Amino acid sequence: MQIVVHYHEIALKGSNRNLFVKQLVNNLRKTFQDMGKLSVRVLYGRITFNLDSEDMEEVRRRMSSVFGTANYAAAYEVPQDLEEMKKAAWRCFCETPGETFAVRCRRADKSFPMRSAEIERAVGGYLGDRAKDSGRPVKVNLTNPDITIRLEIVGKLALVSGQRLAGPGGLPVGTAGKIVGLLSSGFDSPVASWSLMKRGAQVVLCHFHSYPFTNKASLENCTLLADILTRFQYDTRLYLVGFAPVQEELLSLTPSDLRMILYRRSMIRIASKVAERENAQALLTGESLGQVASQTLTNIRVVDQACQDLPILRPLIGTDKEDILKLARQIGTYELSARPYEDCCSLMLSKHPCTKARLGQVLDLEKNMEDLAKLEAEAVDRAEILDLHWKGASVERTQIQAPVYKEGAQGCPLL
Ligand code: ATP
Ligand code: MG
Repeated sequence: MQIVVHYHEIALKGSNRNLFVKQLVNNLRKTFQDMGKLSVRVLYGRITFNLDSEDMEEVRRRMSSVFGTANYAAAYEVPQDLEEMKKAAWRCFCETPGETFAVRCRRADKSFPMRSAEIERAVGGYLGDRAKDSGRPVKVNLTNPDITIRLEIVGKLALVSGQRLAGPGGLPVGTAGKIVGLLSSGFDSPVASWSLMKRGAQVVLCHFHSYPFTNKASLENCTLLADILTRFQYDTRLYLVGFAPVQEELLSLTPSDLRMILYRRSMIRIASKVAERENAQALLTGESLGQVASQTLTNIRVVDQACQDLPILRPLIGTDKEDILKLARQIGTYELSARPYEDCCSLMLSKHPCTKARLGQVLDLEKNMEDLAKLEAEAVDRAEILDLHWKGASVERTQIQAPVYKEGAQGCPLL
């Protein structure tokens, strides 16, 4: 089966165009690597490739994760010849249900002697006659047809397709640089990571946990969430950062209503060290304005101050929870995020967290924690690092760095 892919034009201005198309071609290769030799071609502003399989359902499933695609269709490739085009159009017509139809033609190669409108009339007339002969009642409808048969004349070829399916839109992953995404086991951060992958970013995922003082549920959940997200970006580096030593330090000297703010600031500082290692240019979180106490504007401002070199992107800042949950279902992360887990942040928190932290007070508290900077640096060195690779239908994981957990887990003040 041959597939023709059309991409979004918006990003294709100027010299970026080639980079964008090349990345989309690479991403298509990775997506379908186990389904044939592919022989991908870029033809006058569209991409075509061949699959050994005829399984359109599987194609649909996989294309839903290829960002940068506007739409796609199964297509027949025929020589630039009207009779051949008619025959291929008839095959497409027979494969597509509906009672009204139209034929649309685009000539990327203007050397073909007939104009687009003439080709449309010739092929449309042929389809109408053959349909009548075969006893199928169909009418032409040029404004809102059930079936649209498309003819694309490209080079010495014509691509003929029937039902066109919508792609996920966005920009190809790998065209927008690298971001470190703070991944919790909740609903928001996987959706936030996905939405910036959709804008072309490669997201390095970074999860903070309190193992061995909690169980491993959040690590396991986050690794499975990372597997799902890898489908959209093909290669994922996942940092599983032990946060307990830092938390112990913070707990000893922080009033409970400010703990969440200090946890967040510390996470942000550690994540920016990861960003430096990974050559990433921004951080991302799943925060949404006013969702919880740590996400009031005042508190967001105090958290932001912890990292002044990198922007902290919050793609869900203006999104309602209901809409986030809808996206989580669509992406496939909902079930995992719904699983119970022991969140490192929920340990030893106040029932009445501060909604208006004062930066001066927070800075004074941090100043008194002599070991904080050292513990934050160690957190990255002691993190477990996994590389995840998308293999078409599954994910392969490789451990890049083994974790070093805090000793003396018994009797920890965290629990
Ligand atoms: P929910 O989806 O239920 O809101 P959440 O994990 O988003 O859960 P918040 O307290 O809203 O919880 O956290 C705000 C953001 O901070 C998260 O979206 C995430 O980016 C980051 N974050 C929170 N906890 C962690 C963690 N343990 N590891 C990494 N990032 C975290
Ligand atoms: Mg949240």
